Amino acid sequence: MTTAAQTAGVLSFEQAYDRVVQYCSGVQASRAETVRLLDALGRILAEPILADRDFPAFARSTRDGYAVRAADTSSLPSVLKVLGQIKAGGTFDQAVRQGEAVEIMTGAALPSGTDSVVMVEHTSSLQDGTVKVERSVVSGENVVDRGAEARVGQELLPVGIRMDPAQIAMAAGAGRARLEVFRRARVAVLATGDELVDVTETPGPNQIRNSNSYSLAAQVTNSGGAPLILPVAPDEEKKLEILVRAALESADMLLLSGGVSMGKFDLVEKVLSNLGAEFFFTGAQIQPGKPVVFGELRHSGTKLPFFGLPGNPVSVMVTFDLFVRPVLAALNGALAERLPIAQARLRKNVKTRIGLTRFLPATLSGGLYDPQVELVPWQGSGDVLASARANCYLVVPPDRELLAAGDMVSVFLR
Ligand code: AMP
Ligand code: MG
Repeated sequence: MTTAAQTAGVLSFEQAYDRVVQYCSGVQASRAETVRLLDALGRILAEPILADRDFPAFARSTRDGYAVRAADTSSLPSVLKVLGQIKAGGTFDQAVRQGEAVEIMTGAALPSGTDSVVMVEHTSSLQDGTVKVERSVVSGENVVDRGAEARVGQELLPVGIRMDPAQIAMAAGAGRARLEVFRRARVAVLATGDELVDVTETPGPNQIRNSNSYSLAAQVTNSGGAPLILPVAPDEEKKLEILVRAALESADMLLLSGGVSMGKFDLVEKVLSNLGAEFFFTGAQIQPGKPVVFGELRHSGTKLPFFGLPGNPVSVMVTFDLFVRPVLAALNGALAERLPIAQARLRKNVKTRIGLTRFLPATLSGGLYDPQVELVPWQGSGDVLASARANCYLVVPPDRELLAAGDMVSVFLR
């Protein structure tokens, strides 16, 4: 019998990625919750943040110096009468007339009558209550006008934006001590394999420690999700099925690791098929991670997206970054993002075979204008140490056998 998994097919990287993006566009975000400002860090905004006043709320000086009427500086040197001073947060009530100036500090409101600021470096204060201006300014120079950044009521941050430090600053500036973010998507993590023992146990001579549940949980957390580590499933159909059913009850997404290759005990697709899964792809022409599986389980009206990730530790991390991260972002309510790709100069030749798009552990280094990338030597997709030494993936297109030292190449930032 041909199963749903067998007909779904192996796609190119671009096709598989497009399928993921398409899936994301149909995903419903979870409910919202109210959190304190700093607890919103890394979360996805569930309500728009509006300007509670003009930004800036007053014409603001961007320099220490003298607030003047620009016309008074058109012929130099110009000697102006200093009426007083204003610092950030202060007020200056007197209107400034022709031939007059007010000493002003960065962040202070421009006194009425003035339209620009001469930097203190371009003045000399005379002892008789006047200042000599040595450089002309034009109207508006060194000033940010009231409302220049945003008008009261304007949307500052849209629903779906990730609250990184800049967004936290914006929300703070708009007086939002609490705000609504989407609930974290719950992601069940299910490692499979008879050879696995937990980090707290001593492995037998032919056993290994389960690292995938931990890398996946860490990646889920980094991406704003809430990981739920399930017990390791042995390579046994019935037990695997029980754990997949548990995920159906409790999670918004299921990540399996291992058991999706061609081996005799690779049972993941079979078990998912038996549970009525729909498969979107059952492999991608990539290295590492070729056997990656993406699909959806339906269960009493709800949909559970799942990924069967290849068991090799590097494969599992790469396929998470490439395919799982966008789906998790969508489940978390985030606006669609682009692939995090940069360009860098290759330091050493890379030889491969054609056919697969490769994402190889690499290090990005170099200076401001000459980013450089170099492969981390590795023993293949089981080499978690290579991944731990890397800070990015070098992208090798499927039609290139050689990337030459000095070439500009694509780097996938993780
Ligand atoms: P599999 O995809 O099940 O054939 O596994 C591929 C390779 O990854 C094998 O060498 C497994 O021992 C290893 N592996 C599978 N699952 C894990 C895991 N959770 N942690 C570390 N290594 C794993
Ligand atoms: Mg296995």
